[in-house]
Amino acid sequence: MKRVHIIGSGIAGLAASVRLAKAGFKVSVFESAAHPGGKLCEMNLGAYRFDKGPSLFTMPHLVNELGELTKTKSQFKFQKLNDVCHYFYEDGTRLKAKSDLNAFADEIHQHLGESREAVLKHLEHSAQLYHYTADLFLHQSLHKPHNFFNIKTIKAIGNIKKLQLSKTMHEANAKRFKNPKTVQLFNRYATYNGSNPYKAPALLNIIPHLEYNIGAFMPNEGMYDITKYIYGLAKEQGVEFYFNHKVEDIVIENEKVKGLKANGSLFESDIVLSDADMHVVYQKLLPSKYTPHKLLNQEKSSSAYIFYWGIKREFTELGVHNILFSDNYEKEFEQLFNSDKPYHDPTVYIHISSKVCKKDAPAGCENWFILINAPHNKSHLPVGYFDELKLNVIKKVNRILKTDILPYIEEESTWDPFTIEKDTSSYGGSLYGNSSNNKFSAFLRHANYSSKIKGLYFCGGSVHPGGGIPLCLLSAKIAGNMIIDKHN
Ligand SMILES: Cc1cc2nc3c(=O)[nH]c(=O)nc-3n(C[C@H](O)[C@H](O)[C@H](O)COP(=O)(O)OP(=O)(O)OC[C@H]3O[C@@H](n4cnc5c(N)ncnc54)[C@H](O)[C@@H]3O)c2cc1C
Repeated sequence: MKRVHIIGSGIAGLAASVRLAKAGFKVSVFESAAHPGGKLCEMNLGAYRFDKGPSLFTMPHLVNELGELTKTKSQFKFQKLNDVCHYFYEDGTRLKAKSDLNAFADEIHQHLGESREAVLKHLEHSAQLYHYTADLFLHQSLHKPHNFFNIKTIKAIGNIKKLQLSKTMHEANAKRFKNPKTVQLFNRYATYNGSNPYKAPALLNIIPHLEYNIGAFMPNEGMYDITKYIYGLAKEQGVEFYFNHKVEDIVIENEKVKGLKANGSLFESDIVLSDADMHVVYQKLLPSKYTPHKLLNQEKSSSAYIFYWGIKREFTELGVHNILFSDNYEKEFEQLFNSDKPYHDPTVYIHISSKVCKKDAPAGCENWFILINAPHNKSHLPVGYFDELKLNVIKKVNRILKTDILPYIEEESTWDPFTIEKDTSSYGGSLYGNSSNNKFSAFLRHANYSSKIKGLYFCGGSVHPGGGIPLCLLSAKIAGNMIIDKHN
């Protein structure tokens, strides 16, 4: 039985461990933290529970697939959200994005004066983009030449005009919609992989398809349930977990993996699969002769500054996901990618899991997760803008919700680019690995295997196909299947 060591118990590391153990490998996971999940973790603050990282869950079938693979009896329970997101603009315009597409188109027509057909056409186009490209870009390695000589690639090339490769996301959306507020609403999807809609390719208009045509979901007990469920499957399959074990080296002999070193001991294995950020792997775990400088020097995705507030009041105008838009989106993104602190009038995202997971806050209260897009932390030193940012957020919340929020905050904690890096080893705290701010970015992510070291593989948000829960789960599938095909 071949032995695989996995570095990191992020969502991709966990999913890969399930796949490999099911295929008959002896699997161990080494995790420097005391708990599984990486960025997909949780926290309690007084009587409140918070998901610390991801809040939006799409493509739940990728989680279910793991349950089906293992034929487990345990169930992963989740619900589809009818209200996808509540949008608020500075001039008082408000609207609700609904899961029912016609109702959503009506809402945009009523509040933003856009034609219903334009909205429906946009969502149909988004579905088409997914249909033409998912098999090529998301479901297989982009680094194996034989993957380019098949029907999927031919299909994608045949539809290349529809992919609008020469346009940015903003250019495509500004052409489709007449109201800048609608453009802003659909530009927002670039942030789902930490990118800038004014630079990112129009192909990223694939993302609304996931949220509207497939749906936005919420696990019944909150986002951390995803981690708990997959971790449970891994334990059922006999995966061994070494928590509080920071990997210090990947041990190589004759350009072949021999194992890894953690907490001063050697753990031998035939295969190492890393779910850690690429920067950790190349700058800390491997000799410098292997470092792919060009790849590591690419622009990083954005990070975030999160305030977790226990709010002793309920706000009926808010839903599970809420966006309070910045008045100058273009400037906000310019600052996000060219400076070291968030814009003074940031877009404020408020996620309230207690709207559907009632146990997450006491009766009459709400657990506010407030995320501000922030530049990734180039200095790797503590970020110093807490007071200024908190004041700007409070001013914005007060202005838009016509309230005085400060007296209602009874619990507070934060996570920022510095502490995200400290806790998860993600470079500069970037949330999604490299940004997708240029049209070649899909091709510039690291492969799911090493071409120089035999037995070394990669999964997780910093490698192909990219960051976010669904893509991380797909990276686990691609890397897992490569290992199974090659070594089983
Ligand atoms: C605030 C925030 C909000 C987000 N919002 C969303 C969202 O709404 N929807 C969405 O889909 N995605 C979202 N994301 C992104 C998503 O969380 C990530 O893309 C995904 O969870 C990354 O998973 P991963 O498998 O790459 O591993 P990570 O979660 O990055 O975990 C890597 C693990 O490796 C461990 N590790 C690293 N180095 C070592 C070492 N040397 N030895 C041992 N262990 C090591 C780390 O401790 C960590 O546990 C968000 C992320 C954050 C932080």
